[in-house]
Formats: sequence, C-alpha cells, structure tokens
Amino acid sequence: MVLSDKVASSLGKASWIRKMFEEGDRLRKIYGPEKVFDFTLGNPSVEPPEKFNEQLKTLALNPEPGMHRYMSNAGYPETRSAVAEVIAEQSDLPFTAQHIVMTVGAGGGLNVVLKAILNPGDEVIALSPYFVEYGFYVDNHGGVLKVVPNDEKFLPDLDAIASAINEKTRAIIINSPNNPTGVVYPAETLASLGKLVTEKSQQWGRPIFVLSDEPYAKIVYDGVKVPSVFPYITNAIMVTSHSKDLALPGERIGYIAVNPRINGVNQLVEGLIFCNRTLGFVNAPALMQRLVKGLQRESVNIEEYQEKRDVLYNHLTSLGFEIQKPQGAFYLFPKSPLADDLEFTRVALNHNILVVPGGGFGTPGYFRLSYCIEMDTIKRSLPAWTSLAQELGL
Ligand code: PLP
Repeated sequence: MVLSDKVASSLGKASWIRKMFEEGDRLRKIYGPEKVFDFTLGNPSVEPPEKFNEQLKTLALNPEPGMHRYMSNAGYPETRSAVAEVIAEQSDLPFTAQHIVMTVGAGGGLNVVLKAILNPGDEVIALSPYFVEYGFYVDNHGGVLKVVPNDEKFLPDLDAIASAINEKTRAIIINSPNNPTGVVYPAETLASLGKLVTEKSQQWGRPIFVLSDEPYAKIVYDGVKVPSVFPYITNAIMVTSHSKDLALPGERIGYIAVNPRINGVNQLVEGLIFCNRTLGFVNAPALMQRLVKGLQRESVNIEEYQEKRDVLYNHLTSLGFEIQKPQGAFYLFPKSPLADDLEFTRVALNHNILVVPGGGFGTPGYFRLSYCIEMDTIKRSLPAWTSLAQELGL
C-alpha cells in the first residue's frame, strides 16, 4: 500500500463535486459541451477587475530587484497595512499590520489557524450545511469536526451550539455569506454568538475561537451589508482570500485577520506566522501580495452575479422549486423535490443538469447549484429545468 490508511480511505470517498465533474465530462463527450449544464463548481466565471491587469502590466514592465525573494513569513508590511486599514474602518477597532498574516488562500489560512490553536482531540464545530473541506482541514491538525445543524432559515441555532460546546471545544467555524446557502448572518446573530462564546470560554477556562471564513464577503446583492465580526465577537479570527472577490482562485492569495482585543493576541499572531512557515507555505505569493495591496477596495462586477442569480432563482421558483433567496455568494441551495437528494441528482442527470447533492454539505434533502458560470449556459439550461420539473410532477 503506497498510501496511508487515512488518505486511501478519503480517496475512496471522493467528493461529490469531483464525482459530478467526472460525470459531466462523460456527458460532454456524448452530447457535446453546449448540451450539458454543469452547476457543480465554484470557479468564478467573471474576470478580475481591470485595475488588476493594469497593475500586473506595470509590475511586469518595471521589475524591481528582489521582488521575487522571500519576505517576512507574515507577508509584506505594506500589504498587511493596506489590509488592516480597511478592516479598521469596517470594525472601528485598532487594526494594524501586526494583526494580519498573508496566506496561501483561505484554505491555507484555515490550516494555519487550526494548526496554531488545536491540541490533539480538540473539537471544532461546523454549522451544516458547510464547506466540506473543513472536515479535512480540522483532521489535518489532530482535531475532531463536530457538526451542528443550522435552523430552518440556515442561521446558527444558538441553543444547539451551546449544547454542543464542552471542555474540548476549541473553535466554531462560521461562513457568511455562506457556501452553499447564500445566507448572510445579521449583526444580531453575530452578537448572540459572541456572547455565547465569551460565556463558554469563561466556563471552560480557555478561549474558544470563532473562525470566520469570509471569501464571499464582497459578493452580496440587493444592498445587503455583511457586518464585520470583530465588534461582536472578541475571540474572532477572520480568514479570507481574493479567490472570489477579485476572481483570483488560481493565484492563491488570502489573509488572516486577528481581533486586536483577543487576550494574548501577540502570541497568537506569532504562532500563526510560525505555522505559515512550518506548514511549508513559507509565505503568501510575493507578486500577488504586491498586487492586492492596491486592490483592497476593489471587487469583480457583482451585478453580473446578481443577474445570474435572478434568472435562475426566478425560473426555478416559477417551476415550483423551494429556495431561500440567496443574499450573497454564488450558489442556490434548493430543497430537493425528492426526499432522497441522491436520487434527485440522478434524475437531473437525465436532463444533462449537474448539481451537487445536499448530503455533500452535511444537509441531505437539498441540492446545490453554482451560478458562477456563463449566462449563456444558464439561459440554455432553462428548458432542461422545465422538463426536469415536469418529469417530477412539480
Ligand atoms: N471557504 C469557502 C466557504 C469556500 O467556498 C472556499 C472555496 O470555494 C474556500 C474557503 C477556499 O477558498 P480559497 O481559494 O481562498 O482557498
């Protein structure tokens, strides 16, 4: 056996997103790419803002000596300062470069935080439906994922979280705007969670952290605002990236921001920098750090996503699908018309529609579709959705 038992067993349970992607390839070969409607992947269809391309050209035409060398493991001080300035404005708290660590995407950032705070057997709470990689990230660092279902509006169920917390609980991961539901947590929810975490940290005599995973924070619709977690949650550690808001997922650039009010904040940041290095990331990509420094107030064209959301949401709800209208991110999470979401996924495949079953996010009975695909594909898919609804008798 060339693999560890754990990796071999994880490969055996290949993710639903991956499985559907392969199924899509099979269908594309049979029917042609125009006739297959793949809603499985969260890979942005929009391009980075024009300013990104301009700055990239300027940098390429005027290379500075040393610009590709290692820098401090936390990242360039100027980039960290630029990030801190915006977060200080949003939170009204004294953020400085000292509270920011540049990372290899949000995925890299979450691994750095978990390595820094977890002892073997510590528990991390995820709220279902949740981004499935959390389970692997927690396991990477000897932790145990504990899943607590959200309420029927996909908001955190504070009583259920309170009952799930015990002496082993070290962190709660939240994700707003949410993948897969598109829900944005209001300030009151963050305030209640902050209060609960402070009380429980006192009860068990060590800090419980809230890891706020926010790669979709700028992708919001209808004027919705995403409240900063920091004024409401003292023990908040925010992890994010520019994979979605600047459409740079392949460039692997993100950061961790630590609430300046955390007791022991300096030691925590020192630990994060150490873990960024020893996990082998060493530092976030240098060129990208130089570029995102000047792009902290930019984002991709959100209107494009909103139009896509509206076309799909309006069509699917008119057919009888039950969907909570997403306020952000670029996913819909409709109720499966069949009790068995796997069976629904199979029926959808007969119409060349590829979606991910809710079970893949810890919430069976639903399915996820990503609308970060071409508008043309969305529009061509509408008759297929109609015939799917007819087959199911909606
Ligand atoms: N968190 C959530 C909720 C995501 O949806 C994703 C990517 O899809 C990530 C984290 C990881 O993003 P990154 O590309 O920044 O590692």
